Amino acid sequence: MCGIFGIEGHEDAANIAYLGLYAQQHRGQESGGIVSWDGSRLSVQRGMGQVADIFNVKVLERLPGDRAVGHIRYSTSGASVLGNAQPIVVKTSMGPLATVHNGTLVNAVEIRNRLEREGSIFQTTSDTEVILHLMARQPRANVEESLLAALSEVRGAYSLLLVTDSCLIAARDPHGFRPMIMGDLNGSYCFASESCAFDLLGATVVRELELGEVVVARGREIESFKVGTGQPSRCAFEQVYFARPDSKVFDDAVSRARLQFGRQLAREAPVPADMVVAVPDSGMFAALGYARESGMPLEFGLIRNHYVGRTFIEPKQSIRHFGVKVKLNPVAELISGQRVVLVDDSIVRGTTSPKIVKMIRDAGAVEVHVRISCPPTAWPCHYGINMPTREELIASSHSVEEIREFIKADSLSYLSLEGMLGALSGEPDSYCTACWTGDYRVQISEEDRRQQELFPIRVEGTD
Ligand code: AMP
Repeated sequence: MCGIFGIEGHEDAANIAYLGLYAQQHRGQESGGIVSWDGSRLSVQRGMGQVADIFNVKVLERLPGDRAVGHIRYSTSGASVLGNAQPIVVKTSMGPLATVHNGTLVNAVEIRNRLEREGSIFQTTSDTEVILHLMARQPRANVEESLLAALSEVRGAYSLLLVTDSCLIAARDPHGFRPMIMGDLNGSYCFASESCAFDLLGATVVRELELGEVVVARGREIESFKVGTGQPSRCAFEQVYFARPDSKVFDDAVSRARLQFGRQLAREAPVPADMVVAVPDSGMFAALGYARESGMPLEFGLIRNHYVGRTFIEPKQSIRHFGVKVKLNPVAELISGQRVVLVDDSIVRGTTSPKIVKMIRDAGAVEVHVRISCPPTAWPCHYGINMPTREELIASSHSVEEIREFIKADSLSYLSLEGMLGALSGEPDSYCTACWTGDYRVQISEEDRRQQELFPIRVEGTD
């Protein structure tokens, strides 16, 4: 999963892009980068880690110009190395091009293998690069025509931004798997994965990009093109887990959707208990919804350490295995002697939940009832969410009762598929539900499937 941001026609473009990425840091912490265009050349800075580690005033000064796009990455395809950090920058006969991409293509490996057989040399192992290769091989009078031709060959999920020497282009795939919104910052067009980026900047939301829409921004002018139409397949997991709760994605407030998930869960799976406790941060809004609907109090029974980076080094395995304790600690004073309903957004491999349940029991809870605000996750995502292989997903091979036994909860319930879809503001069939149902609306090529299965994906848990 990734976050992207772009701005056209603003004298502080790189600084603005930096802030736009900063607000979306939750979408990826592996690497980040910004590219800018100053009228004569593209300047690019990329690095591993979080935006605040990669950029400072001096680094941003090396990114002059009034057009910039940026990216933060949490890899789903292609290795987690600096060489795969975006933006990807190339020189073509149409001029220099730079792109950033959120989503995963499902025929990138197939196209790449073909292009390599025909002599193309790739710089990265990222699926995004195939789009640039396809463009470079079919130059047109206008770069947007070349992009439209390239996009007509790729399948899968993409929300992407492209910087050229004459314009900034934003594109969204015909199924609209990933979010992308257009905003206005004092007369400059800007684009982001989530609206929380605009909130930080004081930009207003103009609108969501349409499915299959390609928007070309040249200064204050915009033109819109269509790359194709497909069945709307917005990723419901964005609403369940990925997006920030203060964002709007797919024209729907994430906080509203999560509150509704929690309310519906309380209606579908009530249980006599004393309090509702959220697994922070991912379970907070669903827990609030559950508490409101059930009439039980929501208590801050688990505290999250917000300073844990991705690179916590356990001093010595032999001293102690810290595991989830590094991130979460129970508040025994609140929990002791209580019957607790513990709400989280999802169970993936099932490694986190047993530890949290044990932690709550060790703090004195007399009963722990786990409630999950989406259906059992049983299928890997092909469209850009980090999910392990099918074998590693606990719900692919265990019933709800078996999972309950495994996590040692007194009871376990998941939100039903109908309940989850009913809580969303869009039409139920306009969402992709593949990770719960296995209903993949865009088929992955055999070559791409093999690559996605080979690549080891890490799900960190308790985000
Ligand atoms: P697990 O221990 O594998 O069952 O992971 C479950 C936890 O991972 C939950 O607390 C979720 O909030 C979190 N989670 C779900 N999906 C992802 C993802 N794609 N990347 C990172 N964390 C996730």
